[in-house]
Amino acid sequence: MQLYRLGDSGPAVADVQATLDGLGLLPERPVEPVFDEATDRAVREFQQRRGLSVDGIVGPETYRALAAARWRLGDRILSLATRPFVGDDVATLQERLLELGFDAGRADGVFGPRTERALRGLQREYGLLSDGTCGPATLRALKQLGRHVTGGRPQVMREAEALHRSGAALPGKVVVLDPGHGGADRGATGNGLEEAAIVEDLAARLEGRLTAVGVRTLLTRGPDSCPTDADRAQFANDAGADLVLSLHVDRGSSPRCQGVASYHFGTGHGSSSTVGEKLASLVQREVVARTDLLDCRIHEKTWEILRLTRMPALRLELGHLIHRGDAARLADPAFRDTVAEAILVAVQRLYLPPDLDPPTGVMRLPTFADL
Ligand SMILES: [Zn+2]
Repeated sequence: MQLYRLGDSGPAVADVQATLDGLGLLPERPVEPVFDEATDRAVREFQQRRGLSVDGIVGPETYRALAAARWRLGDRILSLATRPFVGDDVATLQERLLELGFDAGRADGVFGPRTERALRGLQREYGLLSDGTCGPATLRALKQLGRHVTGGRPQVMREAEALHRSGAALPGKVVVLDPGHGGADRGATGNGLEEAAIVEDLAARLEGRLTAVGVRTLLTRGPDSCPTDADRAQFANDAGADLVLSLHVDRGSSPRCQGVASYHFGTGHGSSSTVGEKLASLVQREVVARTDLLDCRIHEKTWEILRLTRMPALRLELGHLIHRGDAARLADPAFRDTVAEAILVAVQRLYLPPDLDPPTGVMRLPTFADL
């Protein structure tokens, strides 16, 4: 799709403004469909709140998030449909179901079979017609149940449980490696380097190491293709992967930007992936401990690769290409080997019981390959 930004105008801009206005993000209702300063500020505010990349540009991901944001729970009747309902109303329903102890999976805002099963469960438990449709009766029940019934965030416990059940051994696990961008989309560029090529190389190094310790490794793309992030997430879901590692390199907005950051799923208001957070934190710590990259810490995001995947997922932003030092490091194959090693160790540590987990920066693999 076309990107919309400061200075653009037309019906699509009017559409964007109508949504922003509905969310109370514009100081006043715009008279002309012009992407002005106020619209730019509102888009950035929206992106900030949503855990999207804050660039003031309405691209596919921000556009879809805006479309989803139009719906409040109760605006329409929700049920399982061939073209699934997508929107904030669905996400709210999923969060309520999760709070009440019904396994709706991740609050991804897509009404799928799992959401329907959870909804039927709720309906049965509360003596409603168990038809899997969120209509007036179910909405009334949800309202009466209030917001005070909050259990132990069951999906969080389920994720942790699944992690333990799957055991500490790496052989047999399925890891999806997702080198960002690809094909004609070269991603970030700077100091003569291209993100797409770096992350492909890193993925190859990691693939070799994971395969060597018995992990089944799948790549979301070859060198010539660039699937959407939603397609990449779907690929991981279809593969029934245990983990998704999405590899990126940042550009940086100024030559002073530098360092590495790790991202996991989280909305910033309660709905997050704890295993994803643990994975992000282990990768971040191992990479920082084994390299001299600046630690830009871990953060929650709702990017599609994190939100639409059903397993713990991580997105790594490894260094900034317009930073001289980061670029020099990334250009060095030995450095990329070290990073691959760090990620491999982090993956193994994720599955190790606490009593076997070694301190950061010291573990070598395959130490535990035959656990
Ligand atoms: Zn990228």
